[in-house]
Amino acid sequence: MASTASVTASCLCGTSTYPFTLPTSSLPLPARFCHCTTCRHTSGVLCTTYITVPPDLNPAPDFSTLTPYDSSDRLTRYFCSTCGTHMFVRERASGRLIVCTGVLNKTAGIVQPVGHEWLGDTRDGGASDWLRAIEGRAQDRWLGDEEKSEAAPLNWRSASRHTGTAASAEAKPADRLHAHCHCNGVSFSISRPSVHSLDAGPAPYHSGASAEDPANEPWWLRANRTKFLAGTCACRSCRLASGFDFVAWAFVPTANITLEDGSPFKRYFGSIRTFESSPGTKRAFCGVCGASVFWDGREGLLDVAVGLLDAEGGVRAEGWVEWWTRRVSFGEEAVNGSLIGALEEGLKTWGGARDDA
Ligand SMILES: [Zn+2]
Ligand SMILES: [Zn+2]
Ligand SMILES: [Zn+2]
Repeated sequence: MASTASVTASCLCGTSTYPFTLPTSSLPLPARFCHCTTCRHTSGVLCTTYITVPPDLNPAPDFSTLTPYDSSDRLTRYFCSTCGTHMFVRERASGRLIVCTGVLNKTAGIVQPVGHEWLGDTRDGGASDWLRAIEGRAQDRWLGDEEKSEAAPLNWRSASRHTGTAASAEAKPADRLHAHCHCNGVSFSISRPSVHSLDAGPAPYHSGASAEDPANEPWWLRANRTKFLAGTCACRSCRLASGFDFVAWAFVPTANITLEDGSPFKRYFGSIRTFESSPGTKRAFCGVCGASVFWDGREGLLDVAVGLLDAEGGVRAEGWVEWWTRRVSFGEEAVNGSLIGALEEGLKTWGGARDDA
């Protein structure tokens, strides 16, 4: 028998576990970052990656602990009903099964990122500008489906994109940022930072310098307190809660969040379900489509999944957030260390160019 490699996919809570086998001759498996709007709004992350499970070598997974979501007439996505982890996507007509790479127990020699697809959906290039090369391999860039679409140059931006910065009175930036999951069971809007954004910290923000906060700065606000801080995280919990190798969060005070019907933020609303990922910390996800929504561990301040945002300037929402580019939080917990190392380098390069501009 030909030699094989064994890999195990597991969700955050451990209810869903799927050991499967890959022929060694097929490794490493090429993987493309998908930046499409559907992946983004079903996951809450900026881009997703998958590998194919060979059906001849593996039985079908136990789908009974997973919630199915038909994200199109072609594809069904499956996430853990308890913790929300995205595990699989199945092409209904062919039965082809792909597994999310963030749930794998190993990726070295198994997963090889080769490029970016559906960049056209991002309008600003999204996370592709942070992931230009991985393990020395330049990543291909496609505006749509791999090899069936136009290549996207580096720093590509949609011509129809609005910048989100006020160049004139007509181009006044929006005062509300809409956020929603793919099924729209979770929908809310975010307002611009204001004085109400200052009281969001673990301790109330003081108007004078204090021993706890000698710099006297609300760290979640940036750009002269006109934008929210956003950053990337590769911790075990974020990776498994989403199903993907890294996540992106924006730090938004609850005072800046308004629900669909105009009412103030409350815990919780719409189709949100929660999973306690550590004592006092909840992961909020959509119980219908499985999108990550919030990391909720502070009374007045939420981490909002950036993939849910509908910013007019593009998926990086740079008219609303300032990206922390010095590191990927908890990069040391990554399973795919080369991917997260490349992301960290890419963020630094991109941040340096941004700050020099
Ligand atoms: Zn689970
Ligand atoms: Zn949903
Ligand atoms: Zn994390």
